[in-house]
Amino acid sequence: MAEASRCSLEKMSNKFSIAIHGGAGTILRSSMTAELQAQYEQGLNDALMAGYAILQQGGSSLDAVEAAVMSLEDFPLFNAGRGAVFNSEGKHEMDAAIMYGKDLSAGAVSGVRSIKNPVHLARVVMERSGHVLLSGEGAEKFAAQQGFTFEDAAYFYNDTRYRQWQEAVAEGSVVLDHTEKKFGTVGAVALDQHGNLAAATSTGGMTNKKFGRVGDSPVIGSGTYANNKTCAISCTGHGELFMRAVVAHDISCLMEYKGLSLKEACDIVVYDKLVKIGGEGGLVAVDAKGNIAMPFNSEGMYRAMADSDGSKEIKIYKD
Ligand code: ASP
Repeated sequence: MAEASRCSLEKMSNKFSIAIHGGAGTILRSSMTAELQAQYEQGLNDALMAGYAILQQGGSSLDAVEAAVMSLEDFPLFNAGRGAVFNSEGKHEMDAAIMYGKDLSAGAVSGVRSIKNPVHLARVVMERSGHVLLSGEGAEKFAAQQGFTFEDAAYFYNDTRYRQWQEAVAEGSVVLDHTEKKFGTVGAVALDQHGNLAAATSTGGMTNKKFGRVGDSPVIGSGTYANNKTCAISCTGHGELFMRAVVAHDISCLMEYKGLSLKEACDIVVYDKLVKIGGEGGLVAVDAKGNIAMPFNSEGMYRAMADSDGSKEIKIYKD
């Protein structure tokens, strides 16, 4: 099966970069059809280009990561927004976060049920609430005050997700998204032409997760982090382990305090620290110079990158 594309974009003078993911896990060529793979690649490409266009026009990294993640949230194959998985009560509880490396401002929501684009609500929390993280009913009350419209359960309903939940209930298991093990969270990181970094992550969490469970995605420093001094990171993987390893902030600290490169810091955390505690997953990262890293210790990760040097890549598997 043809592995995804590598092609060239127009070269720009001020450096900018974007990387996105649609989740990591056991993504095997043997369980993928050509048609499904093309759909995933299309979803990744649309999101990548939504963010890229903003960066190319001189827009902010914050707008770029928000636009890319909203595009992924609207795409039903990824476990976020429209495609969010069912929890143990047959409901959707979504988490999201966004962070701006320029001033370390951050916003997040957890356990929201009827918000079409949780990452947008996270941004509004960041800009208008005076807080960093709002959860559940309170987050939805705030959304109503801010003029958000709500989607009903039918918008988030999807036969495949329902079947996955029923299977998980029958087995009594809590399943990380998709067949076998796949973590379907979505995320984006970007460096803009003004030198500012941003990161955003959004997820439906784990199929059949306990009501009220919150993963790493909305926890600033665990699943999402951005700091102009170092890097911007968005994670996907087994949230409990990513929280315990404080993954995103740890990478930033290795760069800031030990002077490691983005790649060196990512490699230590993803291939050593996480592996030692059984933390399966990966992340996308960009540093202040626009270098990108997309490491994962699982079989595959839906991922894509593009930058002002004209590189563009969309990939799913290891090779
Ligand atoms: N990290 C997410 C969580 O634990 C799951 C994922 O990446 O799919 O909620």
